Amino acid sequence: MPARVKADLEKIKELERIISENKTKYPIEKIIEDGRKEKVIDIVVKTILSQNTSDKLRDIAFSNIKRNFKDMKDIIKADSKKIEKLIRVCGLPKIKTKRMKTALKEILRRFEDPEKMKEEEEEKLFSFLCSIKGIGPKSASVIMAFAGFDTFPVDTHISRIIRRIGIANGSREKIFQMVSPHIKNKIVAHIFLINHGRNICKAKNPKCEECLFQKICEYRKTHYKKK
Ligand code: SF4
Repeated sequence: MPARVKADLEKIKELERIISENKTKYPIEKIIEDGRKEKVIDIVVKTILSQNTSDKLRDIAFSNIKRNFKDMKDIIKADSKKIEKLIRVCGLPKIKTKRMKTALKEILRRFEDPEKMKEEEEEKLFSFLCSIKGIGPKSASVIMAFAGFDTFPVDTHISRIIRRIGIANGSREKIFQMVSPHIKNKIVAHIFLINHGRNICKAKNPKCEECLFQKICEYRKTHYKKK
């Protein structure tokens, strides 16, 4: 497929219309509400733990951390080996320990109270988070989404769906840059599409017959032409 220079705006509109008409399919409001109840500093730790792993393993690692650290700030000075042991279950323990320590240090250097991040200007906060080693645009927008901002983090499920439908192509970062500015209800679209990717538009054998987006999907058209 030739590289797209711009996202297909008509398809984005249609995608959002379909999501909006079917948003009760997944417990989106509850996910947002639960996520936004958490302290920002917990969200930062959780987001780093969730890199390259499943939600289930991330949650086990996070519970281990919570049981051992009442205040996430204590991670900064804690023994790395101890943390690595606690989070081993979610993979990359050395890297994630380093990333958590760095992120917490940087955040506390800038915000005496990390909850103040919620009041920061959106663009400034995004650039600040992306400037921290180990936090890329996806992690930054996940943190911001649950800190109360309307962002559209692009993970592996979302990038796959966006490419298959034919809205945009390229890397996850490229898709984020091309698509995110045009999504009106970003956090809702993010949660809907993640769930859609896990349940319907799977990496292997997508269930196109059950898909709400089949009328606008390039992959579906091509796939059926070949049959
Ligand atoms: S029609 Fe198939 S490939 Fe296209 S978005 Fe739906 S499940 Fe994915």
